[in-house]
Amino acid sequence: MSLRPFETNQVVGPHDVKIAVHTVGVCGSDVHYYEEGQIGPFVVKEPMILGHEASGTVIEVGHAVTHLKVGDRVAAEPGIPDPNSRASKLGLYNLDPAVRFWATPPIHGCLIGHVVHPAAFTYRLPDNVSFAEGAMVEPFAIGMQSAAKARIKPGDVAVVIGAGPIGIMIALAALAGGCARVIVADLARPKLDIAAQYAGIAPVDVTKTDLVEHLLRETGGWGADIVFEATGAAPAYRNLAELACPGGAIVLVGMPAKGTAELDIVRIQTKELRLESIFRYANMYDRAIELIASGKVDLKPLISGTFPFEESIAVFERAAEHRPTDVKLQIVVNG
Ligand SMILES: [Zn+2]
Repeated sequence: MSLRPFETNQVVGPHDVKIAVHTVGVCGSDVHYYEEGQIGPFVVKEPMILGHEASGTVIEVGHAVTHLKVGDRVAAEPGIPDPNSRASKLGLYNLDPAVRFWATPPIHGCLIGHVVHPAAFTYRLPDNVSFAEGAMVEPFAIGMQSAAKARIKPGDVAVVIGAGPIGIMIALAALAGGCARVIVADLARPKLDIAAQYAGIAPVDVTKTDLVEHLLRETGGWGADIVFEATGAAPAYRNLAELACPGGAIVLVGMPAKGTAELDIVRIQTKELRLESIFRYANMYDRAIELIASGKVDLKPLISGTFPFEESIAVFERAAEHRPTDVKLQIVVNG
């Protein structure tokens, strides 16, 4: 990994904007590419710019762009589908096989001074939403997609397996979406302590407490309306169906490294559970920004450290330590 001049030769088309990148969040996937050079079928073969969680300022607009102007503060959605694809026509643009996603090889990411981006995937930030929060919209959109797929009803009780950044994002989106309370389970006490700062989130340390027993006690023996899996750790899948209430839902968010895990199918059937899954998100940025601007969702406590671009390599070294006290590290490119 190095910091160096990089020519990307991006031209501003009629429907594009040019953004001076302000803040970029470091994501687990960035760290994974740094450490392993690959995620599943995506292999880094050429030097690639990392980063996909960006906010910044519009410095140039294409002539057909009407909803943005120079000087607007924005968040940029990193996955660009083919607008003519069948998936895009159906509103499932995150599932378009041709999607070009920042920092997923061979597509460069946004840890660079300027990016050219489709205006349709660039969202103006209200004055009361900071650049730091703007760069949190991307991971929060995953929580939003999870909550939307869960089809939460007011007063639902949810369980989230995993108190990492995504687990916490899911819990916050679930609360904003109408859950009365969310139980968040993890092995790491520091992660649970961070999650437990939020009203409505109840932490469970699974090294000390049996989650199924605890949940059944908490719900009068009924179970949770929604069970979100946000670890991808194979053992976590075994009792997902036990945690859910009859007629409830399981939402798969984490991805098992091997691609497979054991689920109790019969228990899913005898409870008529609904099984949902998510892959990134679609049409969640506007909603995420609305919630942040409204004050209903405060992501600021999840920013564990902010560093200048010059210190980027040290930031990745720290992210690769996977400290349980770090939720989100951010890099300021143009401060
Ligand atoms: Zn991310």
